[in-house]
Amino acid sequence: MNEWVIANEAWVRSACFFSILVIMMLWEAAKPKRKRLHTRLLRWTNNLGLVFLNSFVIRLVLPLATIGVAQFAQQHELGLFNQIDVHPVILIVLTIVIFDMAIYWQHRLFHVVPVLWRLHKMHHVDQDIDVTTGSRFHPIEIILSLLIKFALVLLLGPSLLAVMLFEIILNGTAMFNHANVALPKKVDRFLRPWLVTPDMHRVHHSTILDESNANYGFNLSVWDRLFNSYVAQPSKGHDGMEIGVRGYTEVKQTQMLPGMLWMPFAKVLPQQKVGYVEPIAKDSDKA
Ligand SMILES: [Zn+2]
Repeated sequence: MNEWVIANEAWVRSACFFSILVIMMLWEAAKPKRKRLHTRLLRWTNNLGLVFLNSFVIRLVLPLATIGVAQFAQQHELGLFNQIDVHPVILIVLTIVIFDMAIYWQHRLFHVVPVLWRLHKMHHVDQDIDVTTGSRFHPIEIILSLLIKFALVLLLGPSLLAVMLFEIILNGTAMFNHANVALPKKVDRFLRPWLVTPDMHRVHHSTILDESNANYGFNLSVWDRLFNSYVAQPSKGHDGMEIGVRGYTEVKQTQMLPGMLWMPFAKVLPQQKVGYVEPIAKDSDKA
């Protein structure tokens, strides 16, 4: 099995990525949830351009993939799962659930630690949200999260297949829950107790701070309920809510690749600071 995963991981993952991307794009075209602010041409060329660039940068900086680390852990009998005798299927399920919880906390950390927020902010300043937002992450954030994943693999010692499945599931659910699709209310209600739906994750992309500091989950929806960060619906409704980060309205910065890549290093204006309160105009200012 290990040889099969090593030989086929790259193409299986790419095939899953492109098929889910196309399915969600068609679904968005057939049943969109919100009106777009910017054209598809502008957003897709820049967001997908970033995905293309990221795949090169990551291969260059970290040629070792997560399954490579899993193989190393297995060969050296590192990690909890290499010490215990439990059915492989149970271990696969455990790997996926534990990794998912770790990603939830990692995501929360990227929102509260200022230097990490500088990186993650690039994902949030997108003023529309659709399937391409789901893969729009700064290359430095991707490298950092890969290093976190490597550490987790060394601690747990999961099988190569479990790691591959988790990567495919996380990538697929991220595309699904960022999609601008109108999921029938009944389906949303059915899925939500377990899975993050597009309506649930959209709340996290609101410009209102109490809403963006909620719904951190990417795959299982249970972590937000368990760790007290669940908000069911946006206060202004899905059509009325504003997507993005308050203070970030320049298209050059929010939608164009060079501005997006420069974002972690760009000067933060007072009105772009977290928790900024609009000053009340004095009478003398009105004259
Ligand atoms: Zn976020």
